[in-house]
Order: sequence, then structure tokens, then C-alpha cells
Amino acid sequence: MSENLISCTYCNLKTLKFWFNHTSVNSSNKIFPIFKCSSCKGAIVNPTPSNDFLEKFYKSDQNSMEQNITNQTDEDTLQFILNQEKEFPNSTLDAKKIINNITNITNKKIFLDVGAGYGFFSKEAKKANFDVTALELNDNVRKIFKLLNGFEALNKNFNEEFVEENKEKFDIVLLSQVLEHIPIEFNPIKNIYNLLKTGGICVIAVPHFGSTFSILQGKKDMFITPPEHLNFFSKKALTLIFKKFGFKLLKIETVSRINKNKIKSKFKIFSPIINFILNLFIKFSDRINKGMYIQAYFQKYKNDE
Ligand SMILES: [Zn+2]
Repeated sequence: MSENLISCTYCNLKTLKFWFNHTSVNSSNKIFPIFKCSSCKGAIVNPTPSNDFLEKFYKSDQNSMEQNITNQTDEDTLQFILNQEKEFPNSTLDAKKIINNITNITNKKIFLDVGAGYGFFSKEAKKANFDVTALELNDNVRKIFKLLNGFEALNKNFNEEFVEENKEKFDIVLLSQVLEHIPIEFNPIKNIYNLLKTGGICVIAVPHFGSTFSILQGKKDMFITPPEHLNFFSKKALTLIFKKFGFKLLKIETVSRINKNKIKSKFKIFSPIINFILNLFIKFSDRINKGMYIQAYFQKYKNDE
């Protein structure tokens, strides 16, 4: 029986075991085997899809942020996104909260926003006087970023080449809804480590594998969406893998965010009652630390520690 167990990417114990095969409708029904760890409770796509495969997938415009972008002008698209945020704030809430937490942890200001998206985090960071560099690979999304922020996000990969050019340059590196997309074999955490100054802060927001929603949904977990999502982090899995790469945990919490626009269009006149029930459930989940997303703050170890 033990020959079916392999070493866990997160906790290193030999407790990772095949869980089920996920069929991806976004990727011509390709099958992705999912493995789960009985020790740290994380899960992972195994084997990892190749770099070529992932590049092709993301270039094919199948990734979800594109869905907001239609044939209208960039200004109209931005207005649409801002209206959605105004009606049911999600990203803006998280951006305010996370930037506020960072200013409570450090007074340093050189900030990298990896996979910046439309730039809600960069905007909030800029407002709090951070010196912001942002990376975003999607051409259309980058146009919206420019409109929202007034400066360009860089069209650069978050890889070893970028690290070489920017070694130990940053005080803060933020990856919001990014780390679940990057194969661990590509060394994203080592790259973060090398981009940060000693004592620098890394902020990670990822879907929470082990949230109440995730437990209830099991194999139908809405965040198990390879080839987009490849890593499924429990709080323990996330903490252990960052420790492995030389970080210490400063703060970890969970939050829940529901897309109320989707609920409104799906449940129509019943949406107020659905929202009422969901809100109670969300409050309960967050209180017991099993909210939908993990937000974690790590510090690169100082040499004398
Ligand atoms: Zn594990």
C-alpha cells in the first residue's frame, strides 16, 4: 500500500496520494490527476503540465479574466469593472485590507505586484505611497491596468530572468490569486525569496483548500480548475512550503468573497434570501478560520536568525 505514496511538495512527508482525475472542460476534456496529502492537507496536480502546454493555454485566451473583456472600448470595460466593484466590492476591499496590514508590518516602500490584473492592489499601494512595479502578461488586462493606475504594468514573466535583473530589490512582493497557477517546479517561492531584501515581506492570497466551501464541495471544489489552478493550499501546506524556502510566517487569516453579481443573475428575485443565507454561512466560516481565501504574510529571514 505504501508504494502508492509519494513525497509531498509542501510538507516533504511521504504522505501524498492519488485522489481523483479532474476532467477539464476548458482544456478539451484533458485529464489532470489530483493528489492530496494526508499530513498537511494540501493537494496538487501531478504530474505538472509542461511549460509549453501552459503557455499555449494562456495564450489561447481561455483564462477567466478575459471573460470581462468584450469588444467594447477599454474605457467602457474599465467602467463596467468599476461599477461591479462599486455594487459588490471584492478586490477593492482586499486591496485596502492587505495594503493596510502591510503598512502595519513595515514602513519600507519598494513594492512588486506579481500578476497585477486590473491593478486594484497596485492602485491602493500607490495611494499609500509605495513605489510600485507591476507585472501583467495579458495585453488586454494591461490596458485596463494603465487606465486605472496611470502607469504601465510590465509585460514580463515572473521567472529567473526577471529575478536576475531585480535581485534583492524589493521590500514587499505581493502575489494575489497567482501562486495557485504557477507550477512549484518553476520555483516561484525561491524567486520571491531572491527578489526580496533581507527582512522583506511576501504577501500571498490564494484560494483556501480546506475552507467550509471546499469541504462541502469535495472533488467538485470550484477552485480545482486545472490547468489554471495547479496548487491547492491548506493553511498548513502554504506555511510549510514557505518555511522550507527560508521564510517565517507573520500572519495568516482567511476571508470569504462571494460574487453577488453571479448570484443576482442566477437566482433573480430569490437572490436576497440566498445572499442572506450565504452571508451567515460566510461569517461562520471566517470566524472558524475556514474562509474561502487564505491571506498570508511571510518575512524573509534575517541572516542572524
Ligand atoms: Zn503535505
